Amino acid sequence: MAFDLNSLLRPHISSLKPYTSARDEYTGKEGIFLDANENPLGSATKEDFNRYPDPYQWEIKKQLSKIKGVRPEQIFLGNGSDEAIDLLFRAFCNPGKDNVILLPPTYGMYEVSAAINDVATKKVSLTKDFQLDTKAVLGQVDAHTKIIFICSPNNPSGNKINRDSIYTILNQFSGLVVIDEAYIDFNDEPSFTQELDKYPNLLVMQTFSKAWGLASLRLGMAFASEELIRILNRIKPPYNISGLTQEYVLQALQNEKKVKSMIQTILDEKDSLEKALKGLDFVQKVYPSNANFFLVKVPQATSFYNKLIDHKIIVRNRSKVQLCEDCLRVTIGTKAENKALIEAMQKVAAETGVQG
Ligand SMILES: *Cc1c(COP(=O)(O)O)cnc(C)c1O
Repeated sequence: MAFDLNSLLRPHISSLKPYTSARDEYTGKEGIFLDANENPLGSATKEDFNRYPDPYQWEIKKQLSKIKGVRPEQIFLGNGSDEAIDLLFRAFCNPGKDNVILLPPTYGMYEVSAAINDVATKKVSLTKDFQLDTKAVLGQVDAHTKIIFICSPNNPSGNKINRDSIYTILNQFSGLVVIDEAYIDFNDEPSFTQELDKYPNLLVMQTFSKAWGLASLRLGMAFASEELIRILNRIKPPYNISGLTQEYVLQALQNEKKVKSMIQTILDEKDSLEKALKGLDFVQKVYPSNANFFLVKVPQATSFYNKLIDHKIIVRNRSKVQLCEDCLRVTIGTKAENKALIEAMQKVAAETGVQG
């Protein structure tokens, strides 16, 4: 299927003259910097933050490119994945005219970002076992469909989407296919980043918020063709990633070993938690998960959720979400936290007399 990035772009974006920052024009590190109206003396903090950070975060991208097997120019870094999602809407979707396809139940931010940008969404439900119905999805594509969002492993269901159906969409849709791999590090499936050179219509999102343990820093990654990454760079706020974030993420990238070991600990705990949840007679279903959480079906989920809060256990109530009736989404915690969860669930069940 023919793919032409330029014809997909909103016209005013293709002719946009971007802001050029002081740090764009001279990228050397040596010199006396009198170009950005910064305070030359320092900051009132322990560490100095008086200089603007690298607008393109090249140090991080150099390190990441080795880990991810892509070129640094194929990487975009955003203030959370949310920033990349928003920029995609702004670059490609004409408000009130274009549309995107979402596959509920899925991550809520795609729909919110679409609404903020006044972009229509077409929803094609996943199947009962949370798989992609390729025929139904492709059947919804019209001349104004710009993006299809696929989340794999999917949130809130936890399962990965069948690879063959993703390839079908990539091969047959001539707009952008966004694959959100926020939970990729918790499963051994290869990343779609390895397909970037084959599919110019592909953009893969990952994040430092989950396995990397850096949710508070706010750093999301997008991987795509160099041409597509250049577009995102042109429309992003110039200094979208703070110097503090860049510094700490570089630290984490030097210590990938610790991340791998934390992932292993979480996966070990996941096995124990799954067994414990399945051992509770009132638990109606624990959905198979390729992520660091479980979707769990319990009787009267909303009241169950509220009673868990009384025991100071906070899970995510997904019971009003389609295909997730009576389901709670539970993140894998530490051994002690998971034990407290199971004990609280037993107490709530006893208090309310719920039965499976
Ligand atoms: C948690 C999550 C993200 C991460 O978003 P950030 O803005 O990077 O923290 C992205 N996609 C999905 C599906 C998620 O569940």
